Amino acid sequence: MGATTFLYKSDPVRGRQWAEVFRRRAPGLEFRIWPDIGDPAQVRFLAAWEPPPHLAERFPNLEVLFSSGAGVDQFDFGALPPDLPVVRMVEPGIVRGMVEYVTHAVLGLHRDMPRYRRQQQEGQWRPLPVRPAGERRVGVLGLGSLGQAVLAPLVGLGFDCAGWSRSRHAVEGVQCHAGADELPAFLARTDILVCLLPLTDSTRGFLDARLFSMLPQGAGLVHVGRGPQLVDADLLAALASGRIGDAVLDVTDPEPLPPAHAFWRHPCVQLTPHIASMTQPLSAAEVVLDNLRRFEAGEPMLGLVDRARGY
Ligand code: NDP
Repeated sequence: MGATTFLYKSDPVRGRQWAEVFRRRAPGLEFRIWPDIGDPAQVRFLAAWEPPPHLAERFPNLEVLFSSGAGVDQFDFGALPPDLPVVRMVEPGIVRGMVEYVTHAVLGLHRDMPRYRRQQQEGQWRPLPVRPAGERRVGVLGLGSLGQAVLAPLVGLGFDCAGWSRSRHAVEGVQCHAGADELPAFLARTDILVCLLPLTDSTRGFLDARLFSMLPQGAGLVHVGRGPQLVDADLLAALASGRIGDAVLDVTDPEPLPPAHAFWRHPCVQLTPHIASMTQPLSAAEVVLDNLRRFEAGEPMLGLVDRARGY
């Protein structure tokens, strides 16, 4: 094979920042931004949010597909060449953004900010008791790169922290729960629930009435996973019954929500337009270059997706 092309198919403005890093750090690699693909036979690596269809026919020598974002749920695995390695984005910029967002959201719920906002709108000056962080139980669904990262400052602030994942983890200062059997106990002790699960067949519709019924009355929800994990009607019912006190939603289904959707104007719902964190081009390009080095050296790439699991 002749020269190697790294093809980028995502936001072109950020792509130019990737290009700069590649030019400096890997001058032998031809970095191209879609739709300027050059010779398709030279494309061995592709970074994309949405890959083009018919990958195998279009790029017969493609060796790795990198997601330009943290999730890979936007990929149709059935349409990808079966043995193509898929790598999700694990980079410090995404982690930092998520840590800021979740810390802010948890602190806001902990210190009753949504309630003070409602009181302000009603012209009410009414102090509520201040609970120490140690009396507030925070629970994080998903103990991956983001779940573990958001827990560190929450532990530091003194919250009573727990996490839940498929396999067992050990995280300092965090009560770790694993698997379906331990989910009810995890939920029963959680005053503020943070969802950082990837979207897969087993997490679609996961935040539903049954799950909400296992939380303490008045629990808070911070949803930063993916929109289709939440059953909207069940959240509205849980808010109406007071099972959930307030919800902070950064992701919805669809995005944006239709103008008439109840979440837009619900007094107990705070919406943000999927901005909890974003891939930072400069650090992302460095991480991908490191993965290319690993790939060429036959070492495992960071963020390699288990396609059977879906994340
Ligand atoms: P990881 O793959 O590192 O971690 C996923 C975690 O979820 C793991 O702990 C995994 O368990 C757990 N998990 C997955 N499926 C299940 C299941 N069925 N039951 C129990 N636990 C499960 O992902 P990241 O931490 O990097 O990212 C998580 C998600 O955050 C992304 O997939 C994306 O959807 C979302 N995200 C949202 C952003 C936003 O701006 N709102 C930005 C970036 C990401 P185990 O450890 O046992 O494998």
